[in-house]
Amino acid sequence: MKKFIFVSGGVCSSLGKGVAASSLGALLEGRGLNVRMVKCDPYINVDAGTMSPYQHGEVYVTDDGAETDLDLGNYARFTSGRLSAANSITTGQVYESVIKKEREGRYLGRCVQVIPHITDEIKSRILAAAREDPDTDVVIVEIGGTVGDIESIPFLEAARQLIHESGRDNALSAHLTLIPEVAGGELKTKPTQHSVKAMQEQGIQPDVLICRAPVILDEDTRRKIALFTNIESDAVFTSYDVDTTIYEVPLVFFEQKLDQVVLKKLGVESRHADLKPWYSMMERFASRKGKVRIGIVGKYMDLHDAYKSIYEALFHASLECMVEVELVKIDSARLEEADDPGAVLGPEASGGGVDGILVPGGFGQRGINGMVQAAAWARRNGTPYFGICLGMQIMVIEWGRNVLRWKDADSTEFNPDTKYPVVSLLVDQIDVKDYGGTMRLGKSVSVAEPGTHILAAYNEKNISERHRHRYEFANRYRKEMAESGLRIAALTPDGSLVECVEWPDHPWGLGVQFHPEFKSKPTAASPLFRDFIAAVRDRKRAVIPVSERCV
Ligand code: GLN
Repeated sequence: MKKFIFVSGGVCSSLGKGVAASSLGALLEGRGLNVRMVKCDPYINVDAGTMSPYQHGEVYVTDDGAETDLDLGNYARFTSGRLSAANSITTGQVYESVIKKEREGRYLGRCVQVIPHITDEIKSRILAAAREDPDTDVVIVEIGGTVGDIESIPFLEAARQLIHESGRDNALSAHLTLIPEVAGGELKTKPTQHSVKAMQEQGIQPDVLICRAPVILDEDTRRKIALFTNIESDAVFTSYDVDTTIYEVPLVFFEQKLDQVVLKKLGVESRHADLKPWYSMMERFASRKGKVRIGIVGKYMDLHDAYKSIYEALFHASLECMVEVELVKIDSARLEEADDPGAVLGPEASGGGVDGILVPGGFGQRGINGMVQAAAWARRNGTPYFGICLGMQIMVIEWGRNVLRWKDADSTEFNPDTKYPVVSLLVDQIDVKDYGGTMRLGKSVSVAEPGTHILAAYNEKNISERHRHRYEFANRYRKEMAESGLRIAALTPDGSLVECVEWPDHPWGLGVQFHPEFKSKPTAASPLFRDFIAAVRDRKRAVIPVSERCV
């Protein structure tokens, strides 16, 4: 019998529901259970693929090419259960399929309604995700939004029905709320009481309460909350603010016995907890020495979530390389305004410049020339450079313009009339007019060439990573690019597409057409992020006199 945990939130948004749900997933995996994480998003978009990174943060891509909410990235970083299109359920998808069935006459003339038709569709999608992997023991369903939102009601009703149908031993509700601190340092429980009442009005009695608070709640406060919410006081937990990293949250919960209480409520016999990878990750966190500054040269710099997986992967690499990484966010348009990119990137810049440059993925023309300038500067100065998707295309454009002297070399995405379209559309993409889910998406294999940095990083010729792009390195320039020295470091297995380029005679200048950030974990960094940070660290240490080195 599969077990279900429904994670909801109250009081306000941005309390860290995704991190709380994922941390619980990590603890249950630590107890040897197979966990599947599902996100229910109340928005009406069918998927996150067409949403602006400015509005909604990054689009997280799964192996099977689903363009999903960035919360799935949290699941991937904390847990190891399968992630596919089935892990992401949106109101848009639910209505799309109900309306399709209605048009096909599959409701046999009945009036189609939110209850039961929409709620049944939600339930059947949750159950399908639970069934997809026969080994799944526990399904953790995170319900987006805040209790009381109009849009969340059908999802909460579906959760209520599933809890009822599964029986209290097989399903539970975990509710996350805020305990604010008012002037004078007093912690207030009233919003939490109201939030649980709002859940009860939906017909759901939370079994477990996770309170987001500045400090761990004392016994009296927990007892008071328990009394007013009908929850046992040993099932009231605190997600207190940690000053280390969000990846400590599983351990914060473990120390409060969250997993033990949950397993008991679900009737799963307690097993040995193995959290070694999490504890050793925290040891590495504490042993980091020295710091490197990484310039992220992109266009969505104002919203941290727009490059969430990239920033997290850099942090994972910092743990593995045991050096702190400081993110220096540089809007590429700013580089276009500067006469000399060195004034923004080099040692004379405020903060002392950057030790490495990462150009992440992106769409559209704005700021492209600034990225090309950053790449040129890194190539000429021997500064480690990591290009991801658009960042690899930038390397190709820069090489065309500055090494081959093709002045207007460009991608046809930015200049359709260029004389040198060194990055262009695949033939099968030329007529695409529909922007939802039509890119090269999801997992595929790249084959690394011998003697390359990419092969050294993965230590494996066949590399499986995920794609999300429309444009490609243009094959008609492959020969000239390679003959002039640009290393074609990985190809698709049939040799038809370039997947990685590297700069010759450079400490570490590499661009990949895929997105390695999606598979990086705090307990196992992406090999390319790890080697990039290692190259930055080693170069920095080598140029600092030994007597002044931190390590
Ligand atoms: N805009 C580029 C393309 O579509 C790069 C996309 C990306 O960086 N994800 O090919």
